[in-house]
Amino acid sequence: MTKTFVEPEPSALLLLLGQATDTLSERGVDCPGDLPAPSDPDLVQRARVAKQTLGERAFILGHHYQRDEVIEFADVTGDSFKLAQKAAAKPDSEFIVFCGVHFMAESADILTGDQQIVVLPDMAAGCSMADMAAADQVDSAWRCLQAAGVADLTVPVTYMTSTAAIKSFTGRNGGTICTSSNAKQSLEWAFKKGEKVLFLPDQHLGRNTAILDMGLTLDDCVVFDPHKPNGGLSTAQIRDASMILWRGHCSVHGRFTEESVDEIRAKVPNVNVLVHPECRHEVVQKADYVGSTEFIIKTLEAAEPGSAWAIGTELNLVRRLANQHPDKQVMFLDRTICYCSTMNRIDLPHLVWALESLAEDRVVNQISVDPDTAHWARVALDRMLALPGVGAIRGD
Ligand code: 13P
Ligand code: SF4
Repeated sequence: MTKTFVEPEPSALLLLLGQATDTLSERGVDCPGDLPAPSDPDLVQRARVAKQTLGERAFILGHHYQRDEVIEFADVTGDSFKLAQKAAAKPDSEFIVFCGVHFMAESADILTGDQQIVVLPDMAAGCSMADMAAADQVDSAWRCLQAAGVADLTVPVTYMTSTAAIKSFTGRNGGTICTSSNAKQSLEWAFKKGEKVLFLPDQHLGRNTAILDMGLTLDDCVVFDPHKPNGGLSTAQIRDASMILWRGHCSVHGRFTEESVDEIRAKVPNVNVLVHPECRHEVVQKADYVGSTEFIIKTLEAAEPGSAWAIGTELNLVRRLANQHPDKQVMFLDRTICYCSTMNRIDLPHLVWALESLAEDRVVNQISVDPDTAHWARVALDRMLALPGVGAIRGD
């Protein structure tokens, strides 16, 4: 089978909060076909059989925030960047089954060969942060920067957690992609190239990196609100800012507060607070360590037995880390449950449905990015991969 761009079927269109349709949204609602019941006692066995039948034809990727029942069937686990690399390094797999969210599957489609097909087991597995920057909003923001006379001095830097359309905007306008582990190198590159950065779509990663790694201050940053005229900013504010932060955030990491940190420190005096840079700046400032999902995993692996860790990231990962490190005290930073609800939509019934369908040569839920968008998104991704210390992706 070869990968060709597939226009979404009307039945597979993604519905935005039930209003009309929006094919560019990360949200979706449809699962065409017969989904096994979650109560089916044979699900695990069915997944095993389908995976075995597919053999080398299918490569299953599992993001660290996926449920344990799904991770059990992943050929490889990782953060969004590592999974894109792993997908690209498997040119012989006909199907890439992406257990993660929509934007990650798009990146895999962009970085894999034409003959490979990327499948997202549930189209409803979107990302609220990626949804916060729509292509028309970003185009209109760029026009505001042009009107202020600063677009030529501005370099877009876009977090991996974004739609292919925004990555493509970034490529077309001379910018680069970054991940939570290389945001510093990306900003260094961007500030050599221009005077300002338009950072999309996560204001927290942008602010945290600018202040903690680049020596900028809060006064150097402004927040561009796409729902307000001119982003809610005066022309002077746009002209004076070094970092123009898009008003987007992660609904999971955004829940951790300064109070969460104070509370855990009062309860567990020697606790190490370790958070993801998608957390708010006030939380990151109060933490002992900050880093990407892979950094969090490695830090826990290297930690002393008996040490205590409060982790500010998604709960599936924190629970898995707690189970993997019974000799350490691993706890969730917040008192309340904090799963990523869209990540959680990929469950065993959806995985079984996707694998069994592929085993019967029926491609379901294919994620395909149109060639022009893919081209410019790839340009932006390649700029990131060319940064010092950032690994190359094989996939051409
Ligand atoms: P990474 O996988 O790049 O750490 O991103 C965290 C995240 O929130 C992914 O959805
Ligand atoms: Fe999106 Fe946050 Fe969920 Fe990651 S954890 S998929 S950034 S909502």
